[in-house]
Amino acid sequence: MKLSVLTLFPELIETVDGSSITGRAQTAGLFELQTVQIRDFAVNRYGQVDDRCYGGGTGMLMMAEPIYQAWHHAAGEETAREKTRTIYLSPRGALFNQSKARQLSSCYSHLILLCGHYEGVDQRVLDELVDEELSIGDYVLTGGELAACVVIDALLRLVPGVLPDESAYMRESHMAGLLEYPQYTRPAVWHERSVPDILMSGHQANIENWQQTRSELETLRRRPDLVSARRFSREEWLAMIKAYREESKKTDGKEG
Ligand code: SAM
Repeated sequence: MKLSVLTLFPELIETVDGSSITGRAQTAGLFELQTVQIRDFAVNRYGQVDDRCYGGGTGMLMMAEPIYQAWHHAAGEETAREKTRTIYLSPRGALFNQSKARQLSSCYSHLILLCGHYEGVDQRVLDELVDEELSIGDYVLTGGELAACVVIDALLRLVPGVLPDESAYMRESHMAGLLEYPQYTRPAVWHERSVPDILMSGHQANIENWQQTRSELETLRRRPDLVSARRFSREEWLAMIKAYREESKKTDGKEG
């Protein structure tokens, strides 16, 4: 997979190279990260890439032509547009989530990410080049670079071979529409808090049932919006109620 980022601040994107998993994956040739400095395609020798907005208002807008040229530099001679996806990071975009990360990691061989700055980007170049707009949350950042890093990190973990073992992410939060169950490591007792007995039992089927039920319960508690589209069976509801009661008993015991 190739990732090209069109940006005025390539140094912010290059931090992704150095991080442990993605850095190793890049060295292993599992993906290629290219940054394209939009200013290299400035409209004049003063390096101009932005101008005032028509219709007034404060702030500057990124001009269409430098972005258009930078995009062509990244896309090169590619003719297979269906394998290339151009994404503009934008607070107006659809909210980025795990299923979008999965789609991007599996359906395209080349992603071109456009990072805006200032007041944003001239609409005409978006209309001409961009396949979709993605937002990383309902707030406004100064530029698209941090958002691009978030998108790159989330999708690279899903590229086969980047993580040492696929099972490492298959049961993670959001992969199956649920949040992850609680996890514990040594010591078995810490500050009078014990690891649940079942996890020490060595009975793998019971452990997996417990993890599944706890995953459903955590999701119901923390993010009921995620489960509203999901149907639980009678057995799943009973298991969740049982887990909830057991846990409430423990908490009540401590408080009392
Ligand atoms: N004037 C724009 C608006 O109100 O929608 C905001 C421009 S913002 C200051 C500058 C750039 O940061 C945007 O062009 C976009 O690339 C990026 N950006 C800001 N918030 C973002 C978000 N929540 N998700 C993704 N990118 C964002």
